[in-house]
Amino acid sequence: MLPEDAARRQLVERAARDILGGAGYRRIETPAFEATELFVRTIGEATDIVRKEMYTFDDGGGRSLTLRPEGTAPVCRAYLEHGMHKLPKPVKLWYLSSFFRAEAPQKGRYRQFWQIGAEAIGSDTPETDAEIVALLAELLEVIGAHQIRLRLSSLGTPETRAEYREELGRYLHANEERLSSDVRERIDLNPLRAFDSSDPATRDAMREAPVLLDRLDDADAEHFTRVRELLDDVGIRYEIDPTLVRGLDYYTRTVFEFESAALGAQSGVGGGGRYDRLMEQIGGPQTPAVGFAAGVERILMAAGEPEVEAPLVDLFVAVAAGEGSRDAWKLSRDARRAGLTAQSELAGRSLKGQLRHADRIGARYVAIVGDRTEVSLKDMESGEQRELPLAGVIGAVRGT
Ligand code: ATP
Ligand code: MG
Repeated sequence: MLPEDAARRQLVERAARDILGGAGYRRIETPAFEATELFVRTIGEATDIVRKEMYTFDDGGGRSLTLRPEGTAPVCRAYLEHGMHKLPKPVKLWYLSSFFRAEAPQKGRYRQFWQIGAEAIGSDTPETDAEIVALLAELLEVIGAHQIRLRLSSLGTPETRAEYREELGRYLHANEERLSSDVRERIDLNPLRAFDSSDPATRDAMREAPVLLDRLDDADAEHFTRVRELLDDVGIRYEIDPTLVRGLDYYTRTVFEFESAALGAQSGVGGGGRYDRLMEQIGGPQTPAVGFAAGVERILMAAGEPEVEAPLVDLFVAVAAGEGSRDAWKLSRDARRAGLTAQSELAGRSLKGQLRHADRIGARYVAIVGDRTEVSLKDMESGEQRELPLAGVIGAVRGT
Protein backbone atom coordinates (compact mmCIF):
# COMPACT_ATOMS: atom_id res chain seq x y z
CA MET A 1 0.00 0.00 0.00
CA LEU A 2 1.64 3.18 -1.21
CA PRO A 3 1.09 6.62 0.37
CA GLU A 4 -1.56 7.63 -2.21
CA ASP A 5 -3.41 4.37 -1.49
CA ALA A 6 -3.21 5.02 2.23
CA ALA A 7 -4.75 8.45 1.74
CA ARG A 8 -7.57 6.94 -0.32
CA ARG A 9 -8.13 4.23 2.26
CA GLN A 10 -8.64 7.00 4.79
CA LEU A 11 -11.62 8.17 2.74
CA VAL A 12 -13.19 4.78 3.36
CA GLU A 13 -12.25 4.83 7.00
CA ARG A 14 -13.71 8.28 7.52
CA ALA A 15 -16.94 7.36 5.71
CA ALA A 16 -17.21 4.22 7.82
CA ARG A 17 -16.67 6.16 11.02
CA ASP A 18 -19.37 8.65 10.05
CA ILE A 19 -21.94 6.28 8.59
CA LEU A 20 -21.47 3.17 10.72
CA GLY A 21 -20.48 5.09 13.85
CA GLY A 22 -23.50 7.32 13.29
CA ALA A 23 -25.75 4.26 13.45
CA GLY A 24 -24.16 3.06 16.70
CA TYR A 25 -21.68 0.53 15.30
CA ARG A 26 -18.39 0.37 17.18
CA ARG A 27 -15.06 -0.67 15.75
CA ILE A 28 -13.57 -4.05 16.48
CA GLU A 29 -10.30 -5.62 15.31
CA THR A 30 -9.53 -9.31 15.64
CA PRO A 31 -6.13 -11.03 15.21
CA ALA A 32 -4.73 -11.70 11.73
CA PHE A 33 -4.88 -15.46 12.33
CA GLU A 34 -7.21 -17.87 14.07
CA ALA A 35 -7.50 -21.60 14.67
CA THR A 36 -8.10 -23.23 11.26
CA GLU A 37 -11.10 -25.07 12.69
CA LEU A 38 -13.02 -21.79 13.14
CA PHE A 39 -13.04 -21.13 9.40
CA VAL A 40 -13.56 -24.73 8.26
CA ARG A 41 -16.56 -25.11 10.50
CA THR A 42 -18.29 -21.85 9.65
CA ILE A 43 -17.38 -21.09 6.02
CA GLY A 44 -17.97 -24.72 5.04
CA GLU A 45 -15.74 -27.50 3.74
CA ALA A 46 -17.19 -27.51 0.25
CA THR A 47 -16.59 -23.80 -0.38
CA ASP A 48 -13.82 -22.43 -2.59
CA ILE A 49 -12.39 -20.53 0.35
CA VAL A 50 -11.86 -23.61 2.51
CA ARG A 51 -11.00 -25.95 -0.36
CA LYS A 52 -8.27 -23.87 -1.91
CA GLU A 53 -7.96 -20.27 -0.72
CA MET A 54 -6.77 -20.47 2.88
CA TYR A 55 -3.21 -19.81 4.05
CA THR A 56 -2.94 -22.53 6.67
CA PHE A 57 0.19 -23.33 8.65
CA ASP A 58 1.39 -25.29 11.63
CA ASP A 59 2.60 -22.96 14.37
CA GLY A 60 5.30 -25.39 15.51
CA GLY A 61 3.33 -26.34 18.58
CA GLY A 62 1.02 -28.76 16.82
CA ARG A 63 -1.70 -26.18 16.24
CA SER A 64 -3.12 -25.49 12.80
CA LEU A 65 -3.60 -21.76 12.25
CA THR A 66 -5.02 -19.87 9.28
CA LEU A 67 -4.62 -16.28 8.13
CA ARG A 68 -8.15 -14.88 8.25
CA PRO A 69 -9.90 -15.16 4.87
CA GLU A 70 -12.97 -13.28 6.15
CA GLY A 71 -14.17 -11.34 9.18
CA THR A 72 -17.51 -12.68 10.38
CA ALA A 73 -16.38 -15.88 12.07
CA PRO A 74 -13.57 -14.12 14.00
CA VAL A 75 -15.98 -11.40 15.17
CA CYS A 76 -18.41 -14.07 16.39
CA ARG A 77 -15.57 -15.89 18.13
CA ALA A 78 -14.61 -12.65 19.90
CA TYR A 79 -18.27 -11.96 20.75
CA LEU A 80 -18.54 -15.29 22.57
CA GLU A 81 -15.12 -15.20 24.14
CA HIS A 82 -15.61 -11.73 25.59
CA GLY A 83 -19.18 -12.11 26.84
CA MET A 84 -20.61 -9.50 24.50
CA HIS A 85 -24.00 -11.25 24.72
CA LYS A 86 -24.48 -9.29 27.96
CA LEU A 87 -24.55 -6.02 26.01
CA PRO A 88 -27.84 -4.49 24.78
CA LYS A 89 -29.02 -6.16 21.57
CA PRO A 90 -28.18 -5.98 18.80
CA VAL A 91 -24.46 -5.65 19.39
CA LYS A 92 -23.31 -3.50 16.48
CA LEU A 93 -19.69 -3.80 15.35
CA TRP A 94 -17.60 -2.75 12.36
CA TYR A 95 -14.09 -3.53 11.19
CA LEU A 96 -11.60 -2.39 8.59
CA SER A 97 -8.94 -5.06 8.30
CA SER A 98 -6.71 -6.99 5.92
CA PHE A 99 -7.69 -10.48 4.81
CA PHE A 100 -5.81 -13.26 3.04
CA ARG A 101 -6.83 -15.65 0.28
CA ALA A 102 -4.62 -17.82 -1.92
CA GLU A 103 -5.91 -16.70 -5.31
CA ALA A 104 -4.27 -15.86 -8.62
CA PRO A 105 -3.54 -12.13 -8.23
CA GLN A 106 -5.02 -9.84 -10.87
CA LYS A 107 -6.67 -6.44 -10.95
CA GLY A 108 -9.14 -6.27 -8.07
CA ARG A 109 -8.06 -9.66 -6.74
CA TYR A 110 -5.16 -9.90 -4.34
CA ARG A 111 -3.74 -12.39 -1.89
CA GLN A 112 -3.83 -9.76 0.83
CA PHE A 113 -6.70 -7.29 0.57
CA TRP A 114 -8.84 -5.09 2.78
CA GLN A 115 -12.45 -5.37 3.74
CA ILE A 116 -14.78 -3.00 5.49
CA GLY A 117 -17.45 -4.94 7.34
CA ALA A 118 -20.27 -4.55 9.81
CA GLU A 119 -22.14 -7.06 11.97
CA ALA A 120 -25.37 -6.62 13.93
CA ILE A 121 -25.52 -9.48 16.41
CA GLY A 122 -28.49 -10.59 18.51
CA SER A 123 -31.52 -9.49 16.52
CA ASP A 124 -33.66 -11.44 14.07
CA THR A 125 -35.84 -8.55 12.89
CA PRO A 126 -36.07 -7.75 9.16
CA GLU A 127 -35.33 -4.13 10.12
CA THR A 128 -31.81 -5.22 11.04
CA ASP A 129 -31.29 -6.85 7.63
CA ALA A 130 -32.56 -3.71 5.92
CA GLU A 131 -30.29 -1.51 8.04
CA ILE A 132 -27.21 -3.55 7.10
CA VAL A 133 -28.04 -3.34 3.37
CA ALA A 134 -28.81 0.38 3.64
CA LEU A 135 -25.56 1.14 5.47
CA LEU A 136 -23.46 -0.51 2.78
CA ALA A 137 -25.48 1.25 0.08
CA GLU A 138 -24.81 4.58 1.77
CA LEU A 139 -21.12 3.86 2.21
CA LEU A 140 -20.76 3.08 -1.50
CA GLU A 141 -22.67 6.21 -2.41
CA VAL A 142 -20.64 8.52 -0.16
CA ILE A 143 -17.33 7.15 -1.44
CA GLY A 144 -18.62 7.60 -4.99
CA ALA A 145 -18.71 4.05 -6.36
CA HIS A 146 -20.22 4.06 -9.88
CA GLN A 147 -22.69 1.82 -11.68
CA ILE A 148 -23.77 -0.07 -8.59
CA ARG A 149 -26.31 -2.87 -8.81
CA LEU A 150 -27.78 -4.67 -5.80
CA ARG A 151 -28.89 -8.29 -5.99
CA LEU A 152 -31.06 -9.68 -3.22
CA SER A 153 -32.38 -13.07 -2.26
CA SER A 154 -33.26 -15.34 0.64
CA LEU A 155 -31.75 -18.72 1.42
CA GLY A 156 -34.34 -19.71 4.03
CA THR A 157 -33.32 -22.06 6.81
CA PRO A 158 -30.75 -24.87 6.61
CA GLU A 159 -33.64 -27.38 6.68
CA THR A 160 -35.42 -25.84 3.69
CA ARG A 161 -32.07 -25.62 1.99
CA ALA A 162 -31.25 -29.28 2.61
CA GLU A 163 -34.56 -30.37 1.05
CA TYR A 164 -34.03 -27.99 -1.83
CA ARG A 165 -30.47 -29.21 -2.37
CA GLU A 166 -31.80 -32.71 -2.81
CA GLU A 167 -34.40 -31.52 -5.27
CA LEU A 168 -31.75 -29.56 -7.16
CA GLY A 169 -29.37 -32.53 -7.03
CA ARG A 170 -32.05 -34.71 -8.62
CA TYR A 171 -32.56 -32.10 -11.32
CA LEU A 172 -28.82 -31.83 -11.99
CA HIS A 173 -28.36 -35.61 -12.19
CA ALA A 174 -31.28 -35.83 -14.60
CA ASN A 175 -29.55 -33.21 -16.78
CA GLU A 176 -25.94 -34.31 -16.32
CA GLU A 177 -25.10 -34.39 -20.02
CA ARG A 178 -25.82 -30.63 -20.28
CA LEU A 179 -23.45 -29.67 -17.44
CA SER A 180 -19.76 -28.75 -17.53
CA SER A 181 -17.45 -31.33 -15.98
CA ASP A 182 -16.57 -29.32 -12.85
CA VAL A 183 -20.25 -28.68 -12.11
CA ARG A 184 -21.02 -32.37 -12.68
CA GLU A 185 -18.27 -33.39 -10.27
CA ARG A 186 -19.68 -31.14 -7.57
CA ILE A 187 -23.36 -32.06 -7.84
CA ASP A 188 -23.37 -33.87 -4.52
CA LEU A 189 -20.78 -31.66 -2.85
CA ASN A 190 -22.25 -28.24 -3.63
CA PRO A 191 -25.10 -28.25 -6.18
CA LEU A 192 -25.92 -24.56 -5.57
CA ARG A 193 -22.67 -23.50 -7.19
CA ALA A 194 -24.07 -24.77 -10.50
CA PHE A 195 -25.89 -21.42 -10.76
CA ASP A 196 -22.49 -19.68 -10.71
CA SER A 197 -21.12 -21.48 -13.76
CA SER A 198 -20.05 -19.42 -16.75
CA ASP A 199 -20.32 -22.40 -19.13
CA PRO A 200 -23.08 -21.61 -21.71
CA ALA A 201 -24.61 -25.11 -21.81
CA THR A 202 -24.69 -25.27 -18.01
CA ARG A 203 -26.28 -21.83 -17.81
CA ASP A 204 -28.87 -22.98 -20.29
CA ALA A 205 -29.69 -26.03 -18.18
CA MET A 206 -29.89 -23.91 -15.04
CA ARG A 207 -32.56 -21.65 -16.49
CA GLU A 208 -35.19 -24.32 -15.91
CA ALA A 209 -33.79 -25.54 -12.58
CA PRO A 210 -35.97 -25.24 -9.45
CA VAL A 211 -35.13 -22.18 -7.33
CA LEU A 212 -34.89 -22.00 -3.57
CA LEU A 213 -36.85 -18.76 -3.36
CA ASP A 214 -39.96 -20.69 -4.44
CA ARG A 215 -39.45 -23.21 -1.62
CA LEU A 216 -39.17 -20.90 1.43
CA ASP A 217 -41.37 -21.70 4.44
CA ASP A 218 -43.98 -19.13 5.50
CA ALA A 219 -41.91 -17.42 8.20
CA ASP A 220 -38.89 -17.04 5.91
CA ALA A 221 -41.02 -15.80 3.04
CA GLU A 222 -42.66 -13.23 5.30
CA HIS A 223 -39.28 -12.07 6.62
CA PHE A 224 -38.06 -11.61 3.05
CA THR A 225 -41.17 -9.66 2.03
CA ARG A 226 -40.67 -7.34 4.98
CA VAL A 227 -37.00 -6.72 4.13
CA ARG A 228 -38.04 -5.81 0.60
CA GLU A 229 -40.72 -3.42 1.86
CA LEU A 230 -38.24 -1.68 4.14
CA LEU A 231 -35.77 -1.20 1.27
CA ASP A 232 -38.61 0.08 -0.93
CA ASP A 233 -39.55 2.56 1.81
CA VAL A 234 -36.17 4.29 1.57
CA GLY A 235 -35.85 4.00 -2.20
CA ILE A 236 -33.04 1.45 -2.31
CA ARG A 237 -33.31 -0.34 -5.62
CA TYR A 238 -32.52 -4.02 -5.93
CA GLU A 239 -33.06 -6.96 -8.21
CA ILE A 240 -34.36 -10.21 -6.84
CA ASP A 241 -31.94 -12.89 -7.92
CA PRO A 242 -33.09 -16.35 -6.85
CA THR A 243 -29.80 -17.82 -8.02
CA LEU A 244 -27.67 -15.65 -5.77
CA VAL A 245 -25.36 -17.96 -3.88
CA ARG A 246 -22.63 -16.67 -1.67
CA GLY A 247 -19.24 -18.27 -1.31
CA LEU A 248 -19.76 -19.00 2.38
CA ASP A 249 -22.04 -21.66 3.82
CA TYR A 250 -23.17 -19.91 6.98
CA TYR A 251 -25.89 -17.71 5.51
CA THR A 252 -29.59 -18.08 6.34
CA ARG A 253 -32.53 -16.03 5.07
CA THR A 254 -31.44 -12.69 3.52
CA VAL A 255 -28.39 -12.60 1.24
CA PHE A 256 -27.27 -9.70 -0.95
CA GLU A 257 -24.47 -8.60 -3.19
CA PHE A 258 -23.46 -5.22 -4.58
CA GLU A 259 -21.74 -5.22 -7.95
CA SER A 260 -20.25 -2.49 -10.07
CA ALA A 261 -20.28 -2.62 -13.86
CA ALA A 262 -17.30 -0.23 -13.68
CA LEU A 263 -15.10 -3.07 -12.44
CA GLY A 264 -14.93 -5.58 -15.27
CA ALA A 265 -14.30 -9.20 -14.36
CA GLN A 266 -14.04 -8.84 -10.58
CA SER A 267 -17.40 -7.11 -10.33
CA GLY A 268 -18.30 -7.97 -6.73
CA VAL A 269 -17.93 -4.92 -4.50
CA GLY A 270 -19.40 -6.35 -1.34
CA GLY A 271 -22.15 -8.43 0.09
CA GLY A 272 -23.46 -10.20 3.09
CA GLY A 273 -26.51 -11.60 4.72
CA ARG A 274 -28.05 -13.14 7.76
CA TYR A 275 -26.26 -15.92 9.65
CA ASP A 276 -28.62 -17.08 12.37
CA ARG A 277 -26.89 -20.42 13.02
CA LEU A 278 -23.23 -19.43 12.97
CA MET A 279 -22.92 -18.72 16.69
CA GLU A 280 -24.23 -22.22 17.53
CA GLN A 281 -21.78 -23.76 15.07
CA ILE A 282 -18.91 -22.40 17.14
CA GLY A 283 -20.34 -23.50 20.45
CA GLY A 284 -22.37 -20.45 21.48
CA PRO A 285 -26.05 -20.04 22.26
CA GLN A 286 -28.50 -19.50 19.42
CA THR A 287 -27.88 -15.90 18.31
CA PRO A 288 -29.38 -14.39 15.15
CA ALA A 289 -27.13 -11.95 13.30
CA VAL A 290 -26.65 -10.17 10.00
CA GLY A 291 -23.69 -8.41 8.41
CA PHE A 292 -21.86 -7.19 5.32
CA ALA A 293 -18.29 -7.20 4.03
CA ALA A 294 -17.02 -5.12 1.13
CA GLY A 295 -13.63 -5.02 -0.56
CA VAL A 296 -11.89 -1.69 0.01
CA GLU A 297 -9.70 -1.90 -3.12
CA ARG A 298 -12.77 -2.68 -5.24
CA ILE A 299 -14.84 0.14 -3.72
CA LEU A 300 -12.06 2.58 -4.56
CA MET A 301 -11.70 1.14 -8.08
CA ALA A 302 -15.46 1.50 -8.60
CA ALA A 303 -15.15 5.09 -7.40
CA GLY A 304 -12.46 5.75 -10.06
CA GLU A 305 -9.60 5.98 -7.53
CA PRO A 306 -10.74 9.34 -6.11
CA GLU A 307 -8.18 12.14 -5.95
CA VAL A 308 -7.10 12.95 -2.46
CA GLU A 309 -5.86 16.41 -1.63
CA ALA A 310 -2.25 16.77 -0.55
CA PRO A 311 -2.03 17.53 3.16
CA LEU A 312 -1.79 21.20 4.04
CA VAL A 313 1.63 22.57 5.06
CA ASP A 314 1.25 25.74 7.11
CA LEU A 315 4.92 26.50 7.50
CA PHE A 316 8.21 25.51 5.93
CA VAL A 317 11.26 26.60 7.89
CA ALA A 318 14.20 27.35 5.59
CA VAL A 319 17.75 28.02 6.70
CA ALA A 320 19.61 30.95 5.16
CA ALA A 321 23.04 30.21 6.57
CA GLY A 322 25.16 28.71 9.35
CA GLU A 323 23.79 29.00 12.84
CA GLY A 324 20.20 29.33 11.69
CA SER A 325 19.75 25.56 11.48
CA ARG A 326 19.37 25.16 15.25
CA ASP A 327 16.71 27.87 15.46
CA ALA A 328 14.98 26.34 12.44
CA TRP A 329 14.87 22.91 14.02
CA LYS A 330 13.33 24.35 17.20
CA LEU A 331 10.91 26.58 15.32
CA SER A 332 9.40 23.77 13.23
CA ARG A 333 8.98 21.63 16.34
CA ASP A 334 7.36 24.45 18.34
CA ALA A 335 5.05 25.21 15.43
CA ARG A 336 3.79 21.61 15.34
CA ARG A 337 3.27 21.62 19.08
CA ALA A 338 1.22 24.78 18.65
CA GLY A 339 -1.07 22.91 16.23
CA LEU A 340 0.38 23.94 12.86
CA THR A 341 1.64 21.57 10.21
CA ALA A 342 5.30 22.42 9.78
CA GLN A 343 8.41 20.99 8.16
CA SER A 344 12.02 22.03 8.20
CA GLU A 345 14.80 21.53 5.67
CA LEU A 346 16.28 18.03 5.93
CA ALA A 347 18.15 17.66 2.65
CA GLY A 348 20.82 20.39 2.88
CA ARG A 349 19.48 22.34 -0.13
CA SER A 350 20.59 25.88 -1.03
CA LEU A 351 18.17 28.64 0.01
CA LYS A 352 16.89 28.81 -3.56
CA GLY A 353 16.39 25.04 -3.55
CA GLN A 354 14.56 25.23 -0.25
CA LEU A 355 12.13 27.85 -1.55
CA ARG A 356 11.46 25.74 -4.64
CA HIS A 357 10.82 22.73 -2.42
CA ALA A 358 8.47 24.72 -0.17
CA ASP A 359 6.52 25.73 -3.24
CA ARG A 360 6.32 22.15 -4.46
CA ILE A 361 4.88 20.86 -1.18
CA GLY A 362 2.38 23.70 -1.14
CA ALA A 363 3.59 25.48 1.99
CA ARG A 364 1.53 28.56 2.87
CA TYR A 365 4.44 30.32 4.59
CA VAL A 366 8.18 30.01 4.57
CA ALA A 367 10.24 31.30 7.51
CA ILE A 368 13.83 32.00 6.51
CA VAL A 369 16.05 31.67 9.55
CA GLY A 370 19.60 33.00 9.52
CA ASP A 371 22.26 34.23 11.94
CA ARG A 372 20.27 37.31 12.92
CA THR A 373 17.53 37.41 15.54
CA GLU A 374 15.14 38.63 12.84
CA VAL A 375 13.41 36.07 10.60
CA SER A 376 11.95 36.66 7.13
CA LEU A 377 8.43 35.32 6.80
CA LYS A 378 7.30 34.85 3.22
CA ASP A 379 3.64 34.48 2.27
CA MET A 380 3.89 32.00 -0.61
CA GLU A 381 0.60 33.01 -2.16
CA SER A 382 1.12 36.78 -2.33
CA GLY A 383 4.90 36.64 -2.42
CA GLU A 384 4.95 39.31 0.29
CA GLN A 385 7.87 39.10 2.70
CA ARG A 386 8.36 40.73 6.08
CA GLU A 387 10.89 40.73 8.91
CA LEU A 388 9.87 39.77 12.42
CA PRO A 389 11.46 38.35 15.58
CA LEU A 390 11.82 34.54 15.73
CA ALA A 391 9.38 34.37 18.65
CA GLY A 392 6.65 36.05 16.59
CA VAL A 393 6.57 33.58 13.67
CA ILE A 394 4.11 31.04 15.06
CA GLY A 395 1.69 33.74 16.16
CA ALA A 396 1.90 35.41 12.75
CA VAL A 397 1.13 32.17 10.86
CA ARG A 398 -1.67 31.20 13.27
CA GLY A 399 -3.17 34.64 13.04
CA THR A 400 -3.84 34.26 9.35
P1 ATP B 1 -15.32 -12.96 -5.71
O1 ATP B 1 -16.54 -13.60 -6.29
O2 ATP B 1 -14.88 -11.73 -6.45
O3 ATP B 1 -14.20 -13.94 -5.47
P2 ATP B 1 -16.18 -13.37 -3.02
O4 ATP B 1 -17.57 -13.83 -3.17
O5 ATP B 1 -15.11 -14.37 -2.80
O6 ATP B 1 -15.77 -12.43 -4.27
P3 ATP B 1 -16.68 -12.29 -0.40
O7 ATP B 1 -16.16 -13.46 0.30
O8 ATP B 1 -18.14 -12.05 -0.44
O9 ATP B 1 -16.11 -12.26 -1.90
O10 ATP B 1 -15.94 -10.98 0.14
C1 ATP B 1 -16.56 -9.69 0.12
C2 ATP B 1 -15.83 -8.73 -0.80
O11 ATP B 1 -14.43 -8.76 -0.56
C3 ATP B 1 -15.95 -9.03 -2.27
O12 ATP B 1 -17.16 -8.54 -2.78
C4 ATP B 1 -14.76 -8.30 -2.85
O13 ATP B 1 -15.05 -6.90 -2.98
C5 ATP B 1 -13.74 -8.45 -1.76
N1 ATP B 1 -12.79 -9.52 -2.07
C6 ATP B 1 -12.96 -10.86 -1.95
N2 ATP B 1 -11.85 -11.52 -2.31
C7 ATP B 1 -10.94 -10.58 -2.68
C8 ATP B 1 -9.58 -10.61 -3.16
N3 ATP B 1 -8.93 -11.75 -3.29
N4 ATP B 1 -8.98 -9.43 -3.45
C9 ATP B 1 -9.62 -8.24 -3.29
N5 ATP B 1 -10.88 -8.14 -2.84
C10 ATP B 1 -11.54 -9.29 -2.54
MG1 MG C 1 -13.78 -15.32 -4.05
